Amino acid sequence: MNTAFQALCARLQAASVPDARFDAAQLYRFVTRRDPRLDDGPTEAEAARLDVLAARRAAREPLQYLLGEWDFLDFTLKVGPGVLCPRADSEVVCEAAVELLRDVAAPVVLDLCAGTGCLGLGVARAYPDARVTCVEKSPEAWRYLTANTAGTGVQTVQADVFSWYTALSPESVDLILSNPPYLTAQEMAALMPETAHEPAMALDGGTDGLDFYRLLCARYGTALRPGGWLVLEIGCDQAARVLALGRQYGWQNGCCRKDYGGNDRVILLQKPQKSG
Ligand code: GLN
Repeated sequence: MNTAFQALCARLQAASVPDARFDAAQLYRFVTRRDPRLDDGPTEAEAARLDVLAARRAAREPLQYLLGEWDFLDFTLKVGPGVLCPRADSEVVCEAAVELLRDVAAPVVLDLCAGTGCLGLGVARAYPDARVTCVEKSPEAWRYLTANTAGTGVQTVQADVFSWYTALSPESVDLILSNPPYLTAQEMAALMPETAHEPAMALDGGTDGLDFYRLLCARYGTALRPGGWLVLEIGCDQAARVLALGRQYGWQNGCCRKDYGGNDRVILLQKPQKSG
């Protein structure tokens, strides 16, 4: 009977950690490299390490930060305080981009507000000949981005997307994907405890949550070649408003896709083909 593991579960449950048993098992395995169900208990040194991690998780720090890495699609990313955790919801954003690039040889792709780089790296893994650039402003997130992209061929740029578009040549890019900050001021004031540990810079989309969509729709069309695509993660109640913004700025063939939880999650917008 592994009483230390039982106590760990109880401690996380008492702190209202969602899926407390799952998280306890993850932390136990992380520290001991053993299965808690088959194990007699941690050594003294392991128990001390577990205690520190249990306290952090009970304070509702994301599990991802404590483990230091997390899976996305079929690969693993380094994560930690200062960068948005990769989420399963975002996988469909990457999959939509991969689908749109199916017939494009050596595509040029930008991942804006890249964070860990999960979206850009997912595209680069699907298309080894793609030229992918991940753009991130935050110095804290930048450390994870450069670690995750090291040796992959994916380029990184530390820049603010509110001005970086001026550095791009017109019609030089095939596809832009982004999981920008999109929470409203109201949502920022009522974050889940775990999300409150994540960088506000990665979450805060301005008063109505749409600041980055306005920027991307207004300023990033020039860099795309005619027929190129903007692929945007959205909050589950933002589809109609982001599609309307797209129309307002002259984008075509706007459509929305759902994530595997059944929520609206991705908006696709196409730059018009040249007429004549
Ligand atoms: N999906 C995140 C959340 O639920 C928000 C991520 C973002 O703003 N891009 O809190």
